[in-house]
Amino acid sequence: MRRAARKRTTRQLEEVFKALQGDHTHPFAHEIYRRVHKKLRRISLATVYRNLHNLVEEGKIRTLLLDEQGARFDPETSQHDHFVCVRCGRVVDLFLRQARRIDLSPLAKQGYVVTTHNLTVHGTCQACVARRRTSKPQRPAARKA
Ligand SMILES: [Zn+2]
Ligand SMILES: [Zn+2]
Repeated sequence: MRRAARKRTTRQLEEVFKALQGDHTHPFAHEIYRRVHKKLRRISLATVYRNLHNLVEEGKIRTLLLDEQGARFDPETSQHDHFVCVRCGRVVDLFLRQARRIDLSPLAKQGYVVTTHNLTVHGTCQACVARRRTSKPQRPAARKA
């Protein structure tokens, strides 16, 4: 690879990595692409995908598949789980490790080799619960206060 090309490749990887730092919304590749594209006008979505997968392989970011919408990306590499809001789709990091213990020994007895396991909690987030409360159909008569 020519030096200039290698330099460009490194820059692309760095920008993809940077675009995800501090973002705990678990964005999709196309959302990260949009951010990176603002800085690197010539980068393609395919290149962003490739860089994301390289970062996952290097253990610098995590990828997660929560639904049929596709892979999301996560800068939080420590062991954690996720809460998925069924209303707004928000994905929130959960650190419940100590709070639960799942006995996986039956799997081992059946011959499975377990590497990792993740918990995904589905429900309604605080914001959606609040929104629902305030956006109840209000009859004018009931609004005297
Ligand atoms: Zn929500
Ligand atoms: Zn996460």
